Amino acid sequence: MMRPEALFPLFADLETLEGIGPKTAAALRGAGIERPADLLLHLPYSAIDRRRRDSLRDVTPPTVATVQVTVGQHLPPRAKGGRYRVNLWDGTVDFQAVWFHGRADYLTRLLPPGGTRLVSGKVEMFDGQFQMVHPDHVLPPEEADRLPLCEPVYPLTAGVTQKQIAKAAQGALDRLPPLEEWIDPHLRAREGWPDWAGALHALHDPKVPGDVAPDVPARRRLAYDELFAHQITLAMARQSHRKQAGQISRGTGKIAARALASVPFPLTQAQERAVDQIRADMAEPHRMNRLLQGDVGSGKTMVAFLALVTAVEAGGQGVLMAPTEILARQHGESLAPLAQAAGVRLAVLTGRDKGADRAAKLTALAQGDVDILIGTHAVFQADVRFHDLRLAVIDEQHRFGVAQRMELSSKGVADVLVMTATPIPRSLSLASYGDMDVSVLDEKPPGRMPITTALMSTDRLEEIVATLTARVAEGRQAYWVCPLVEDSEVLDYASAEARFAQLRAAMGDVVGLVHARMPPADKDATMTRFAAGDLRVLVATTVIEVGVNVPNASIMVIERAETFGLAQLHQLRGRVGRGSVQSTCLLLYQSPLGETARRRLQILRETEDGFRIAEEDLAIRGAGDLIGTAQSGLPKFRVADMDRHAGLMALAHSDARALLSQDPALKGPRGLAVRNLLWLLRRDEAIRMLRVG
Ligand code: ADP
Ligand code: MG
Repeated sequence: MMRPEALFPLFADLETLEGIGPKTAAALRGAGIERPADLLLHLPYSAIDRRRRDSLRDVTPPTVATVQVTVGQHLPPRAKGGRYRVNLWDGTVDFQAVWFHGRADYLTRLLPPGGTRLVSGKVEMFDGQFQMVHPDHVLPPEEADRLPLCEPVYPLTAGVTQKQIAKAAQGALDRLPPLEEWIDPHLRAREGWPDWAGALHALHDPKVPGDVAPDVPARRRLAYDELFAHQITLAMARQSHRKQAGQISRGTGKIAARALASVPFPLTQAQERAVDQIRADMAEPHRMNRLLQGDVGSGKTMVAFLALVTAVEAGGQGVLMAPTEILARQHGESLAPLAQAAGVRLAVLTGRDKGADRAAKLTALAQGDVDILIGTHAVFQADVRFHDLRLAVIDEQHRFGVAQRMELSSKGVADVLVMTATPIPRSLSLASYGDMDVSVLDEKPPGRMPITTALMSTDRLEEIVATLTARVAEGRQAYWVCPLVEDSEVLDYASAEARFAQLRAAMGDVVGLVHARMPPADKDATMTRFAAGDLRVLVATTVIEVGVNVPNASIMVIERAETFGLAQLHQLRGRVGRGSVQSTCLLLYQSPLGETARRRLQILRETEDGFRIAEEDLAIRGAGDLIGTAQSGLPKFRVADMDRHAGLMALAHSDARALLSQDPALKGPRGLAVRNLLWLLRRDEAIRMLRVG
């Protein structure tokens, strides 16, 4: 698929724009602005009113003002490096224009004494007099129309001035080709949005400062364009995934029935519904690409197992992949009794299986003597061959982006189920996983005791350690999570080491430590001892390592809780409250705690509902902070702002899916218009998919 010719001028080199030389172009490229098309979406965040006033008489400094003046005396600096001042009179008010390092010859030409000029700049009060330091514009009155009445203010990039950006943006605007509308006309009419060119003109060419406000229709329209292009890309990924020859895996329900008979509880309604959706999807000839979203403790593992069993019932194999070896082993252990009761053959394979053992497992897998494999994500990079792999389940997937999911499908796995315990608001979920179908476990198994959550300052550490020592003596087990120090594994490690030493001094050798840099075998040994109850307190550095299930652990202490995301805290807290005793979560913070930080942590005291926590966190902190963008797979948007435009995401999602279901190849009139959008917004991934058809 070739780029449409009409768009060529917007994809020329930046240097072809008036006022942009190689240096400026390089600076812009450094900021991700590579083509005129990119410049168009580099939007002003505010605008300066330069409409002319009669006089400075009524202005309240500091503010930008434009007046016509009679030029008075020049007052060059008395000492070298001093200020160069020029007296000005606007008919009512005397004031001065001021330059640091002003050059007399240049300034005399600019403001000839006795002449009339239009000056525009920021007016400040100095020594009881108005002054304008480095006026932005000085023009003879006959050139007044060169002064924009309202001047856009752009986010700046080092090495590029406002004037250069404004000029270049004007140059790009002059190249706008006439394009068909890609937004659904009903939607556009309902929202009162301008067309694309109109929106760009409105923002780059504001008439009054209010034209560039955050919520103006023009900006919302461009934000929608961006979200829509993103959702089209995801919908195309979904479509191309489903189109590939899948496999019909129709379960008999026999093995599942045996597994269910072996557990002392019925499935929750949410689990039933999710299992039904998954089974129905697997029975279809297309490929499944489904997200299983459920809070900590909502019973995802059981659902995953029943999905894997469906593959086995259909005569194939399934694989469950966890992000770490510890979690893989933990899954292996918790599923082994179920597998045994159900009569399916389960194997766990991690990087630590070596030599003859590993070879034997690989052979069994290749021959179909293993039904369900549990391993880490590395299972797919290694020399692992399956006999008849039908389903891949990926656990705890915050590290798994769209690209990796597509890679999985290219390995020929018919059906994919991704499990995530991170409850995120719907808008963000659609942004990150819009290419998937979603099953939600919105109900928890009954009979759980609420967890008591308390906030405490680390100033009370001694008291806390004493209380913990007493509880441990009573037979309770505790996690102690040390803060993640960003970009500093060394510090991270040191803080946990120090705490470990301190707790050990207080409680003896019932305290263990796990951190990311330990050899895996040591980590495992420590975890096993904690799970067995030999260790009573586990000091841990990373979130992942505590993503484990030890029902007897009933105390969770989290240090520097204010530095964690709420979703993370919620997940950590979910590690306790799994057994029959009342559990406690202690959030330690470093004083003083700011107002926002306190409000955030307070939410955790109020609720254990992960979705509510996520929504509130979004409301307080904004999307940027909620989850690391890289981690979440949340794309970086240029115009769309998840704090303001989240509501447009669901709209874009359903609109994109609807369009693709009518016009899967984007060949109809609106489809062709959407192609232009994909080019303009550089959705390379989508364009590639269109190319392969
Ligand atoms: P998640 O992976 O979603 O955090 P798990 O699958 O680990 O949750 O389940 C948490 C606990 O709840 C496990 O001990 C599991 O055996 C139990 N459980 C799962 N489903 C049910 C159910 N329907 N009723 C009661 N307990 C359940
Ligand atoms: Mg789990």
